[in-house]
Amino acid sequence: MDTPLTRRGLMFVLSSPSGAGKTTITRALLKNNPGLEISISATTRQRRPGEVDGQDYYFVDIPEFNAMVENGEMLEHAKVFGNYYGTPRLPVDEALARGNDVIFDIDWQGTQQLREIARDDLVTVFILPPNAKELERRLRARAQDPEETIRQRMDKASDEMTHYSEYDYVLINNNVDMAIQQAQHILDSERLKRHRLSGLSDFVRGLKEGL
Ligand code: 5GP
Repeated sequence: MDTPLTRRGLMFVLSSPSGAGKTTITRALLKNNPGLEISISATTRQRRPGEVDGQDYYFVDIPEFNAMVENGEMLEHAKVFGNYYGTPRLPVDEALARGNDVIFDIDWQGTQQLREIARDDLVTVFILPPNAKELERRLRARAQDPEETIRQRMDKASDEMTHYSEYDYVLINNNVDMAIQQAQHILDSERLKRHRLSGLSDFVRGLKEGL
């Protein structure tokens, strides 16, 4: 921003059924926005091949997860596909305090919890696949999950999709470059929201005094 104004960091939530392209969009946004940090979740699910602890997730066991919840270390947490997932609070607080924005890849249950504690700072985006066939193709192309899990995710996808109406924005990921561009536009516009800008009244007073 080329004004002397500072800005409250925002919490940018991306949710979607598995396979709608959320990870690709998240990676592109992180690459293109140096002031954007990702919230790394803790999970009790098994690590998939290629996943790195501390990078994709913090892989913890159930007692460790429960201890984090009991100690108030989670901003939100939920059970998804039989495993527990949660957002560690401290890194988010620290990123926002640095004046950065934070991106979250969490489900609708987590989004509802964040809305209760951080409504003003929250921007929520739901990503939909262009059609059911394409969603299935993307789920299979990942080839990381057993057939049973893929089937389970297909079944869950329709449940998850009913939550689109709780989100501020909906993107249909027909073309990933276009979806990345649209997500960037949302981020850019939300960064300019008046209520996020601090010192605005002083700035305008200064302008008026200069006239
Ligand atoms: P996956 O196991 O495929 O990485 O993620 C499964 C689902 O869990 C995705 O919909 C993802 O958005 C969601 N998820 C990942 N981390 C969190 C989290 O910290 N909190 C919540 N509520 N959901 C999460």
